[in-house]
Amino acid sequence: MTGAVTGRFAPTPSGRLHLGNLLCCLLAYLSARSRGGRFLLRIEDLDVPRCPQRLSDQCIEDLRFLGFDWDEAPLYQSTRTEIYQKYFDELSAMGLVYPCFCTRAQLHAAIAPNLGDREPVYSRACAGLTQAEITERQKTRSPAMRLRVPDEVFSFKDGHFGPVSENLARECGDYIIRRSDGLFGYQLAVVIDDALSGVNEIVRGRDILFSTPRQMHLQKTLGFDSPSYYHIPLLMDANGRRLAKRDRDLDLSALSKVMTPEQILGMLAYSAGVIPENRPASLEELIRAFDWKNVKRDDIRLAYNPQAAG
Ligand code: GLU
Repeated sequence: MTGAVTGRFAPTPSGRLHLGNLLCCLLAYLSARSRGGRFLLRIEDLDVPRCPQRLSDQCIEDLRFLGFDWDEAPLYQSTRTEIYQKYFDELSAMGLVYPCFCTRAQLHAAIAPNLGDREPVYSRACAGLTQAEITERQKTRSPAMRLRVPDEVFSFKDGHFGPVSENLARECGDYIIRRSDGLFGYQLAVVIDDALSGVNEIVRGRDILFSTPRQMHLQKTLGFDSPSYYHIPLLMDANGRRLAKRDRDLDLSALSKVMTPEQILGMLAYSAGVIPENRPASLEELIRAFDWKNVKRDDIRLAYNPQAAG
C-alpha cells in the first residue's frame, strides 16, 4: 500500500476486555505504528443496553493502562444514528432494502442442516412482498430491514490469511442492516465508520473473516474504497481451548493484579510470534520488532496459564 496507514481498534464493550481483544488491539496498533501510521479507537456500543457507558469507560481505562494511544477522540457508535440513517436511506433509494417480518421461529425452521459455523442463508421469504402485504403486516409487527445481496463473488487477498472469496447470495444471503427494534446492524455501521474516519487497514479476529465480503459489497455500493485486511487467528488458552468471556481470570481486572503492563504486552507479543522470547516489553520496543512475517498463522496459544501462575 502507498501513503499513510490508518489503523483502528473497534471493541464492543459488552464486557471487560479480555486477552483475545487485546491481541487484536496490539497487532492493529503495531501494524499501523511500525509504518508510522495513525491509529484510531472506535467504541462499538450500537447495542446500548448491552454496552453501558461504564463498560466503555472501563475499556478505555484498560487500554490506557497498557500504554495504548490514539490520534483522535474515540468515536462512539451510539452517537452516530443520524449518519447511519443517511446511508440506510441511500441504500433504500437504490431499491436494495426490504422489510422482513419473519419471526425467530420461522427463520429457524427454514435453516438447512450442515451449516457448520456459518450463519444460515436467509430464504428470502419476505423479498417479494407486495406493498399491500407490507402495509398489512406492519399493523402487527415492526420489521427488520434486509439488504439484497447480488449473486456475485467477492474476493480479496487478506494480508495474513491469504485469498478469500464468497458468493454473497449463496453463502451469505440477504442480511439485516436495521433490526426490528430500530438499531442499525454491525455490518452497515462498521463500513460507514471506517470509511468516514479514513481507515485503510483493518486488523481483527478471524471470526469476522466472512463478514468481509459483505462489507466490501457495501463499500462498493456506497462508493467507498476498500481497506486492506488482516484477519488474525483466534487466541486459545494455554491448553488449546478457545478463550471465552467466562474466563474471568484472563480479563484485565484479574491480570492487572498479577502482571505489569509490560509483562502482559510481552506475553501477548510472544504468544503471537512477534518476539522470540516471553519477557516484559514496552509498546515502543514491540513497534520496532514488529513484522507481519513473524505473526503465527494458526491458532495462537496463550503463553500464560492462570492456574499454573497460582
Ligand atoms: N466490534 C467488533 C468486536 O468487538 C469488531 C469489529 C471489527 O473489527 O470490524 O468483535
